[in-house]
Amino acid sequence: MAQVVTIPTRPARVAALNNRYRHHAAIRVLGDALRDPDLGRVAMVSSFGADSVALLHMISVVDRNTPVLFIDTQMLFPETLAYQQEVAARLGLTDLRIIRANPTSLAATDPDGDLHKRDTDACCDLRKTAPLNRALGDFDSWITGRKRFQGETRATLEFFEPDPAGPRIKINPLAHWTARDVADYIANNDLPRHPLVAKGYPSIGCAPCTSPVAEGEDPRAGRWRGQEKTECGIHFVNGKMQRIVPSQPAAFVPEDGLPVIVRDTGFGPEDWTGPILDLAPDADLDDPNLHLMDAPMIRVSFPSFSDGRGFTLARRLRVAGYKGRLRAQGHVIADQFPMARRSGFDEIEIDADLARRQPWDLWQRSAGSLSYLNRLGRKA
Ligand code: SF4
Repeated sequence: MAQVVTIPTRPARVAALNNRYRHHAAIRVLGDALRDPDLGRVAMVSSFGADSVALLHMISVVDRNTPVLFIDTQMLFPETLAYQQEVAARLGLTDLRIIRANPTSLAATDPDGDLHKRDTDACCDLRKTAPLNRALGDFDSWITGRKRFQGETRATLEFFEPDPAGPRIKINPLAHWTARDVADYIANNDLPRHPLVAKGYPSIGCAPCTSPVAEGEDPRAGRWRGQEKTECGIHFVNGKMQRIVPSQPAAFVPEDGLPVIVRDTGFGPEDWTGPILDLAPDADLDDPNLHLMDAPMIRVSFPSFSDGRGFTLARRLRVAGYKGRLRAQGHVIADQFPMARRSGFDEIEIDADLARRQPWDLWQRSAGSLSYLNRLGRKA
């Protein structure tokens, strides 16, 4: 008789990992995580920011061949780029991967490099989240340098957590470290500091969106100062951020045979390279073989303009707790854009012919006819 093997769900794996490593020190969590079969292929993601050198040093001690992903948003301080090279060379990291935005998407969506002035969420999505998600497609888990002390949004951080943006697990070895722990580790190991730390930057991101912090302020107060935004989208999904519909639609020319993706920021090319789970509008959400909650993207087909079953399906997925990317595909028109967004879809995939017949300004007008900005702040 065939043996039945039960594969634990991701939340169950995360709970077991947190339990297993509960009393471990950071370096032990890091070392064991790289070999733990529950975590699969592991990469580290580093901004080479203010505190990054501590965790980078640990990884170089444990296994300097670990893939390290560095997101170059092409908006970073020159000091960060120089520091990245200095630290990587000094620690002997052998598999540093520099991640950048897709040039086609960049040219279509932010040709003048000023999207951050109009819509920081869209800019972070273009320059950080999308490229990182693409790069993480090769991995099952990733290591971050986040810590509880870094602000309210991280106050309950654990060593392991499900990645809300995909099927992976995030590993936070320094979750319980204090600012003093980090400073001591850096001093004790004689590691170089990011040069901007001495100039009042305890948290360092892109140059246009980072300012110095005054004594007594939250260390991350200089990030997106004056905005409600607190995270870049890599670590933050479906929170209370608000998106702004840009006043100028992105320049994008639909091409026959290629899909056109409709998002809040306008039309754009396909830039998703991860796996997609395709669902018919009458799919059985109770089918355990679908593993819906682990799918990084679900695409729901709309076989005709009058078939609204896909909207109901999307709503049911969101109510059930689906946090991944949700795309409508096929016969959806501009008038249905508000309904699609209200149902929980993030984007719509149409063909070039429909995109030409219904240009972006129609979709934008349709979106603007409702209390659009409030809707986008929906909780998942
Ligand atoms: S931090 Fe600012 S410049 Fe960098 S990607 Fe986000 S919005 Fe754009």
